[in-house]
Amino acid sequence: MLVKRSFEQQSINNVTFGNGTVAVQGVKLNVHCFVIDGVLIDTGAQSLAKEFKPFFDEQDIDQVVITHFHEDHTGCAAYLQKQIQVPIYMSELKLDYCKQKPDYPLYRKYFWGKRAPFHAKPIGKTFSSRHAKWDVIETPGHAIDHLSYLNRETGQLFTGDLYCQEKTKVILREESIPTLIHSLKTVLTYDFEEVFCCHAGYLKDGRLALQRKLEYLVNLQGNILKLHETGNSPSAIKAKLFPKKYPIIFFSSGEWDSLHIIHSVIHEQSLSV
Ligand SMILES: [Zn+2]
Repeated sequence: MLVKRSFEQQSINNVTFGNGTVAVQGVKLNVHCFVIDGVLIDTGAQSLAKEFKPFFDEQDIDQVVITHFHEDHTGCAAYLQKQIQVPIYMSELKLDYCKQKPDYPLYRKYFWGKRAPFHAKPIGKTFSSRHAKWDVIETPGHAIDHLSYLNRETGQLFTGDLYCQEKTKVILREESIPTLIHSLKTVLTYDFEEVFCCHAGYLKDGRLALQRKLEYLVNLQGNILKLHETGNSPSAIKAKLFPKKYPIIFFSSGEWDSLHIIHSVIHEQSLSV
């Protein structure tokens, strides 16, 4: 399969970011990583290593922090560890998984390549960079080990894949909408304005964007539960709320699907009854 790649670099408010894009058969995906105050947040994908490596080489990096274990965030971690010899920190939940060769499906290897094993250390609740203290905020939902990072000096929040887009239409099988809602409420208790998202990039009115996403998901959850209570099956709810056929559903053989949104909401409710 023909893979097209591109890369862009820019700086906003002392944050330098690299943004790599991969296109396979008309499906285009992108991923960012960010550098501020000697901290690199996430490491891009292995399929974009040729593009990301020169970017890393010219940055002044003391440490790497990873938002979650997915291969588009950890793809160049092994390179940074071996070649640039910087320490890598992440949630302890997926440390062992990242020490192994990856076992994710083939379509993800087409897009993001094969993430090489690396050895990260557990990050704890806070950390320090040259001029700032940072909060490590647990924000599961998209991934079990997902963390967001807040630079307390600048009020800049790095949210990994917590946001991605306001109106979520498809999610991964293991994602949970109720957990995402809880995580959005958690980050909104902190003091921040700007948000740096690994896929949407720089969000100037980041607080507002996260509030809007929270509102969208809470409404969606209510609509799903109403339809469920009136006897609609998950696939009938999907046909009503998500009639569009997204290419990623086909591409991923259903690992991404709107149906997972519905199942996660119904499942959570059945636990609370
Ligand atoms: Zn992810």
